Amino acid sequence: MTIPKAYQELCELARECAIVESIDALLGWDEQTMLPPMNGQYRAQQMKYVAGLIHNQRTNPKWTQLLDELENGDWRPNPNSDQHTTLKQLRRKVDRAARQPKELVQDLAEATVIGQQVWAKARKENCFADFLPALRKIVELKQQQADALGHKGNRYDALLDEYEPLATTEAIEIVLSELKQKLVPLIQRIAESQHRPSSSVVRGPFPIENQRKFATQAATAIGFDFQRGRLDVTTHPFCTEMGPNDCRITTRYDEVFFNTAFFGVLHEAGHGMYEQGLRSSMYGLPSGQYCSLGIHESQSRLWENMVGRSFGFWEHFYPSAQSLFPEPLNGGTCEEFYAAVNAVEPSLIRVEADEATYNLHIIIRFELEQELISGNLPVEDLPQAWRQKYHDALGVTPETDRDGCLQDVHWSAGLFGYFPTYSLGNLYAAQLFQQAENELGDLQLQFRDGKFDLLHQWLNEKIYSHGQNYPADKLVENATGHPLSSQPFYDYLFKKLGPIYQL
Ligand code: ZN
Repeated sequence: MTIPKAYQELCELARECAIVESIDALLGWDEQTMLPPMNGQYRAQQMKYVAGLIHNQRTNPKWTQLLDELENGDWRPNPNSDQHTTLKQLRRKVDRAARQPKELVQDLAEATVIGQQVWAKARKENCFADFLPALRKIVELKQQQADALGHKGNRYDALLDEYEPLATTEAIEIVLSELKQKLVPLIQRIAESQHRPSSSVVRGPFPIENQRKFATQAATAIGFDFQRGRLDVTTHPFCTEMGPNDCRITTRYDEVFFNTAFFGVLHEAGHGMYEQGLRSSMYGLPSGQYCSLGIHESQSRLWENMVGRSFGFWEHFYPSAQSLFPEPLNGGTCEEFYAAVNAVEPSLIRVEADEATYNLHIIIRFELEQELISGNLPVEDLPQAWRQKYHDALGVTPETDRDGCLQDVHWSAGLFGYFPTYSLGNLYAAQLFQQAENELGDLQLQFRDGKFDLLHQWLNEKIYSHGQNYPADKLVENATGHPLSSQPFYDYLFKKLGPIYQL
């Protein structure tokens, strides 16, 4: 049966939306990287105008009309085909938008813009009390939003669905609590080990121009295409795409600490390689868009940690590092450097956490935000609950809320349900990496020779090329033959950290 005209029209509508969204992304990238400070006000007007255009496109009644016509017609595309995915995902988008009253959407937009401003000031001044009214308001609105979106008894499910479509709180809870049970004793054993790698080799001076050169060289080697992308400097690193051949990554440099920029670039390059690997011919349609935030994060963490913090990788890159940074590195060995970039130390700040403790930071947030959304934890009790959980899980207690519940921007921006996608990313990454090793032979030998293309191609075939044709859990199960499990991540960590700490 020939493809109905209504389907072509639906695709045109989606592609038109993508054009305006990509213009918005360009304005946003430019604002963060290039904008002369005096033009901030006018840029806000430009972006507000474009946001209005996007809103008009998204609420165009034509979407529902075309989808109704296609769903009621005789044309039935094959399950998991591009066409089937287009219908399914666009219907999902339209339905989610329709379930939220306009007033609630506007109230949330306003509360989170104000929330972020109040949070930034409260964090700077270390005053949770100043943030409390704004956060209370946001939590109430998110509860209303969850109820409007609909759920089967657990409000958190409705919020999670925005970032990790079809995932359930219960399923994530099972896998993360298993992970926690394995991680806590491992971190304890590491803390008690007599063998501690020195971290002095990753403490500067690392001249910034050479850091940029080195990070660019490594990002190119693993497969980030600079003919279809760029690297620039921002306060908060990110990756954004604004066209089928235009993916921008950013980083920040720290002259006295190697890890910040280098691993940050590998992380963002991992996100960027996923975007660059999506099919350009499907740009603007769900089959040409990323599957979920958990899958996106699996791609960044895989290249940052499983590749970038591996011994084979450093056997290849250490000589270049030594010639670019003679002062801190000459006289040291590759083994010492490898141990230093993998050192484990329980700490208070999530974004600075090592691979072993990182997920405990996430689990704490996942537990707390569920309680906030269910209403079981009064917002004013958050600082105390935070301190207790850090004490119990990591053995460290923040002395100030700045180092505690005020450290992350997410809640002030209304991003409840976002945090668990970071841990899902780590678990998916380890599971995919383990399977790639099973299929591609000894990856460490390939990395030692500077060869990253087989792994890159494997990810292209198993993940990138499918876009949204499968939900995240199914995509990973198809690639690895197993449902999501915390075991590959734990095995990966133990294999790496066991020898370093002589466990
Ligand atoms: Zn990321």
